[in-house]
Amino acid sequence: MAQSNNNSFFADVCNNFDNAAKHTSHPEGLLAQIKACNSVYRFQFPIRRGNSFEVIDAWRVEHSHHMSPTKGGIRYSDMVNEDEVMALAALMTYKCAIVNVPFGGAKGGICINPKNYTVAELETITRRYTTELIKKNFIGPGIDVPAPDYGSGEREMSWIADTYMTMNPGSLDALGCVTGKPIALHGIRGRKEATGRGVAYAVRECVNIVEDMTRIGLKAGLGDKKVIVQGLGNVGYHSAKYLTEFGATVVGLCEYEGAIYNENGLDVAEVFAHRTATGSILGFPGAKEFKNSKEGLEQPCDILVPAALENQITVENIRNIKAKIIAEGANGPCTPEAEAIFTEMGGIIIPDMYCNAGGVTVSYFEWLKNLSHVAFGRMENRYSANSNENLITTLENLTGKSVSAQQRSMLVKGASEVELVNSGLEDTMMNSYVEIIETMRAKPTIKTLRTAAFVSSIDKIAVSYMNLGIWP
Ligand code: GLU
Repeated sequence: MAQSNNNSFFADVCNNFDNAAKHTSHPEGLLAQIKACNSVYRFQFPIRRGNSFEVIDAWRVEHSHHMSPTKGGIRYSDMVNEDEVMALAALMTYKCAIVNVPFGGAKGGICINPKNYTVAELETITRRYTTELIKKNFIGPGIDVPAPDYGSGEREMSWIADTYMTMNPGSLDALGCVTGKPIALHGIRGRKEATGRGVAYAVRECVNIVEDMTRIGLKAGLGDKKVIVQGLGNVGYHSAKYLTEFGATVVGLCEYEGAIYNENGLDVAEVFAHRTATGSILGFPGAKEFKNSKEGLEQPCDILVPAALENQITVENIRNIKAKIIAEGANGPCTPEAEAIFTEMGGIIIPDMYCNAGGVTVSYFEWLKNLSHVAFGRMENRYSANSNENLITTLENLTGKSVSAQQRSMLVKGASEVELVNSGLEDTMMNSYVEIIETMRAKPTIKTLRTAAFVSSIDKIAVSYMNLGIWP
């Protein structure tokens, strides 16, 4: 059985890596190089608060330089520590490899609870953090490109972009130094929703494989599936929204103040509005409620989407989970021991490195947009619409039949930026699932999707190192 080091998230990631590496034939030294964190930068800086100063602890970890730039979010949380940032940076490397995004993995952390700081203080912290990265060459469109993570969003990314641009005047590609920016600052449509939308595609791909669903005693398809989501942040909210759109029923939602459950379904937008108005998920009309949030995870459902933080599903609660599928919207929500037990129980875990890779996939599109200095669809949208219009008119003239105005407008329109982004994301999630499944089918000793995903990632990273000429 997989062993977890309860004190170290990075050790858990390495443990998963080692379990997968056994199914490859790469030299030991190469595997050690892939696994190692290449650069770990820990720094501290002061900020003024009223009449006193406070020292802020911060990190940026670049896990793998097999590709440049490195990529990954910045976490703003008072739980952040070096081990966690290293683990999350490593997961970014494997995540980028699994979805064929040409980046190495990185992650940043700022050890603060953002709720305890004013907006002006958060701006000071973010700008100073960015300046420290610039000083050490730890940020840049071709070096290391941060993005949002737990506790950060578009606002913080704007401050980072502005600080970087101020310090790099005249640099044409400066806007590509960070992704997850607002649209007005050359972000990309669909980025905010991307991780949750990607989770929904991942779940849809998983439940569409009839033989896998039959094995775990479920019908194929999302139509009859009941889902519980942990976390109503950006990832959880959008996962719940798109899973509902794709036909599933969200029956449970869990937040840190408690959990709610209604077997007939919950309207996620209404729950979100209720929480915004009252400050709590609890008290939502018609739902059963649990003061202990973890109890919410154990209610009846088919699919559980932990989309909050790591280490939520452990040996303590795994046996109480009723879901047959766990889709890891968060990074590292299931410990290796919990996964081993769940696999024995006949369940399927859709692993984080694939399941939540939608965010970095669309970050890649944003970075490409920033480097090309033109929005997707801008050059060809009108051209496609005009040629489609001509084609339809010609067909109508040739056949003597005509299409309705509604059909015409649907057939002629060119693709908008968000449509291209969503189709690129869907295609990525579909193809990567096939890659993982094919890896698993090719090696029957591989028992979990996580091991298969790791094997597929390791193989790709190994090829990069060989192409760099570092390994013969
Ligand atoms: N923080 C997100 C993640 O863990 C997004 C990273 C990115 O877009 O670079 O995948």
